[in-house]
Amino acid sequence: MSQYYKPNRNPDWNYGGPKFRLSRTKIALFLECPRCFYLDNKLGVARPPGFPFNLNSAVDVLLKREFDFYRKNTSKHPLCDAYGVDAIPFDHAEINTWRENFKGIEHKHAATGLTVTGSVDDVWVNPKGELIVVDYKSTSKDERIESLDKEWHDGYKRQLEIYQWLLRQRGFKVCDTGYWVYANASKDREAFDGKLEFEVTLIPHEGNTDWVESALLRLKERLDSDDIPATAPDCDYCRYREAADNALFTASNKEKKEKTPIKKLANAKNKTVQLF
Ligand code: SF4
Repeated sequence: MSQYYKPNRNPDWNYGGPKFRLSRTKIALFLECPRCFYLDNKLGVARPPGFPFNLNSAVDVLLKREFDFYRKNTSKHPLCDAYGVDAIPFDHAEINTWRENFKGIEHKHAATGLTVTGSVDDVWVNPKGELIVVDYKSTSKDERIESLDKEWHDGYKRQLEIYQWLLRQRGFKVCDTGYWVYANASKDREAFDGKLEFEVTLIPHEGNTDWVESALLRLKERLDSDDIPATAPDCDYCRYREAADNALFTASNKEKKEKTPIKKLANAKNKTVQLF
């Protein structure tokens, strides 16, 4: 079995188990497909994870280290200066917990009783004492990245908004504007020469967290129901699973049919022997 995929996990981690927590990735999964969410959180069969993106993780670690330097010095990062953003990295006793995978910012949501969590990349603070949610992204594209306005960027927006919502639930004043620090590796060089060069841009997003409460209520209803949600019509994975199941069913039926006459003949012979 792959070291990355462990199907049929310990039920302690499923909904109703003592270790169950609702991470922001689970909320994203629910919004993408309630059926996959149900399979994962109620039945304990998660999707296989993607292969780890080690280069992206390396960029995240280095950006964190870089912003930590300015956090310690309570000074502005040059990127904020370049974009006219009046904010410095926020220093708080829990900042490292908020940024840690499998921990993050945690809030027990009274209406559903669910413990909601999300691991943020960074939090800055402006002179008004408002917290600013920041997410790091890295990629390699030809064009300069200055906006995230494609339909598939909606997930990135919801990600920032859940962190904003979580910090508000924890009693902080949070600025509606969050930012992506986007590192774009250039391919426009003569040779690799053992290094990548990145263009780093800062992209604002006006967050709206109004959707979070209703999503949590719908999600809780789904978790408490025994009805299995329908498949998403445009999901290639379920189309693949259906096609694969059908193909296997047809193949095994064909195999049975081919074997049946031989078996019947053998039974018939046995019966004949018994008769005499
Ligand atoms: S439709 Fe896609 S996302 Fe939904 S259950 Fe099937 S595989 Fe999962």
